[in-house]
Amino acid sequence: MTRDLKAPLQALRNEHRYRSRRILEGPQQPEQVIDGRPVLAFCSNDYLGLANHPRVIQAFRQGVEAYGVGAGAAHLVNGHTRAHHALEDELAAFTGRDRALLFSTGYMANLGVAQALLRRGDRLFEDRLNHASLIDAAMISGARLSRYHHADAGDLARRLGKTAREEDRETFISTDAVFSMDGNLAPLEALASLADTHGCWLMADDAHGIGVLGERGAGTLEHLGLSQDQVPILMGTLGKALGTSGAFVAGPEDLIETLIQSARTYIYTTAMPAAVAEATRASLRIVQQEPERRGHLRDLVVQFREGSGQLGLELMESTTPIQPIVVGASERAVQWSDSLLQQGFLVPAIRPPTVPQGRARLRVTLSATHSRAQVDGLLQALGGLVGKP
Ligand code: PMP
Repeated sequence: MTRDLKAPLQALRNEHRYRSRRILEGPQQPEQVIDGRPVLAFCSNDYLGLANHPRVIQAFRQGVEAYGVGAGAAHLVNGHTRAHHALEDELAAFTGRDRALLFSTGYMANLGVAQALLRRGDRLFEDRLNHASLIDAAMISGARLSRYHHADAGDLARRLGKTAREEDRETFISTDAVFSMDGNLAPLEALASLADTHGCWLMADDAHGIGVLGERGAGTLEHLGLSQDQVPILMGTLGKALGTSGAFVAGPEDLIETLIQSARTYIYTTAMPAAVAEATRASLRIVQQEPERRGHLRDLVVQFREGSGQLGLELMESTTPIQPIVVGASERAVQWSDSLLQQGFLVPAIRPPTVPQGRARLRVTLSATHSRAQVDGLLQALGGLVGKP
């Protein structure tokens, strides 16, 4: 007898935790047609508007002409093209690191790093609000996992202090650089100093910082002025601000060679299409040549925060384009999201277990392709909801 699946699904519906997909008819951009109706979307990770940029599309087309559609094999077989190789060199230079290595997704990059560097019995310390892929990475690695209080280097220091250093045992700290559901930054300087004192690896997942933060857009580590020596393992995704798909790990030479030799999510999977690498090379150039995209995005963040403050909405400590509005109960978050959708604004409700109980929220995400007028429109719609149960 197989397990009944209907009852748990119904329970999710009853608890307002049922997840459903919407069908998008066109490209990533603020004005979208979803489930047949026009909406203004405030939920894309395409922070700089590069997913649908003419130069990126052109590079993708040329990549397809040159390399065909599929990579056809894993990197270590014969899927590693000149385009992949050039992108790795450019990502290493962009992030100021010895080398970079492409993975097909950020999820796989995170699993691959933990599996390649950690063995059963090693110690792994993670922020409680780390992305699911880092938590799953812990499971795969077999390391003993300890989850410290969110963004609390003091709590991590206490936990490290209680851990006796064992010969031949690795200690590893991993954190989101920008937390995906809250938008705040990890205390990376403090984590780097703890990693140095205790002789640990430190890994930052900068999925939401690459392209967005730092003068050159090189991410949270550039923004905080942290070097490869201080944070040796950097993971960045290509599917968010860079507008394409895939991910990379950047860091010291030996780290990258170790991943090539032993990260199973690198070795046993088909390389991303070479055309995606070509498209990403084009978007990387735009990230560096057009800092005004980041400037406009920063202005929108300020505008949104000031406007929300005037409405008395509860925001989080975030200076990034991820701007959650905490509304409390899951049911309320769903009602607000539905009501915004009626008015033509797509803002998802994020509920437990993705966020803690009682902290359900609307997750507003801003993009450089939004206009000030569009942000004003959203603020006006939110104003109509304030005070409603
Ligand atoms: N890390 C973080 C912090 C993320 O937000 C995401 C994507 N939601 C990932 C990793 C996974 O990246 P990808 O979508 O490329 O698998």
